[in-house]
Amino acid sequence: MQDPQSIQQSGASDLVSGGPTLAGGGVMARGYRIHAWDGPLQAEEWGVAAPGPGEVLVRVEACGIGLTVLNSMRGDLSNTAPLPRVPGHELVGTIVAVGAGIAAERVGQRILGYFYLTCGACLACRAGRDAQCTNLAGWLGVHRDGGYGSHTVIPAANALPLPAGIDPVLATAIPDAIATPLHVCQTRLGLRPNDRVVVIGAGGGVGIHMVQMAALFGASVCGLDIDEAKFEAIQRAGGTPILSRSWPDVRLPPDWNEAGPAACIDLIGSADSLRWSIDHLAMGGALAMLTTFRDRAVLISPREMVFRELRFVGSRYTSKAEVLQSAELVASGRITPIVSQVVTPDGIESVHAALRRGTLLGRGAVVWA
Ligand SMILES: [Zn+2]
Repeated sequence: MQDPQSIQQSGASDLVSGGPTLAGGGVMARGYRIHAWDGPLQAEEWGVAAPGPGEVLVRVEACGIGLTVLNSMRGDLSNTAPLPRVPGHELVGTIVAVGAGIAAERVGQRILGYFYLTCGACLACRAGRDAQCTNLAGWLGVHRDGGYGSHTVIPAANALPLPAGIDPVLATAIPDAIATPLHVCQTRLGLRPNDRVVVIGAGGGVGIHMVQMAALFGASVCGLDIDEAKFEAIQRAGGTPILSRSWPDVRLPPDWNEAGPAACIDLIGSADSLRWSIDHLAMGGALAMLTTFRDRAVLISPREMVFRELRFVGSRYTSKAEVLQSAELVASGRITPIVSQVVTPDGIESVHAALRRGTLLGRGAVVWA
């Protein structure tokens, strides 16, 4: 990490290297924007205004590439947010200028982007349950420009400090791909040592870190995936890989037969994956759901829930505190970010293609430096 002192002493033009300074303190950014929801990415340059009150200007170093970005671009989160828009919420960068009300000392700080544009004032925000904000203004990369560009202005409250010594590319996995599993394992499920846990979609960006996180909590983990090429990585993450291409043929380890999993964490959200989870949960087990589609539902019988004392747990992103906690887990080596495809800006579409094929292990990332 650069010494903030030395940065503040350097000239403003050094701070925004990669783009000339504009009148009024803004910069020219380069990168990708969409001009229609569900429209294509367009390579271009645009002016980024100086940060307003409560905002910071960030020189983006790297940005994570995952399915959520594709879903956002398609308009799944909102198809009415103003355009054009720079996608990408898992951004890592350095603050190069601050707006009114933000401490000048933050210039030079390495930061992680927080996905949700929370109000900071509602009961949930005040209680630290950020993702439950009841006055949500939208999402980074949907209602504010994100990390698919060299520079962006975001609310200072969405720029969380990154501990020193973490590689910026690996750090792109922290604010969502790692912090979401922490929220699930710690806050939503409260996993305990020796719990048996099934992760469905274990080779994906959230999945591979979910396997690691559940194992870190002391759980015994099975990682289901349809791609055998990801099995070695699932094993390294601490899980037993199991092929789930055909649900009737999925076999859990023989010593699990007596009780079944205490938790199924479903990252697929298909009618089959949800049904399989409900059918296989242990007495008192919990189904955690993170992936949803507008038209997808599963029938739940209250009798089944009561007799087997099942729990159904929705999980929505993560809190800012959990993002910071996730960064510490990475800094201390207890969680290893899996970012398997790192590209320069002209390679973004190739990572998108791998995501659509389902062949990307863990996360992808684009590097702007
Ligand atoms: Zn709020």
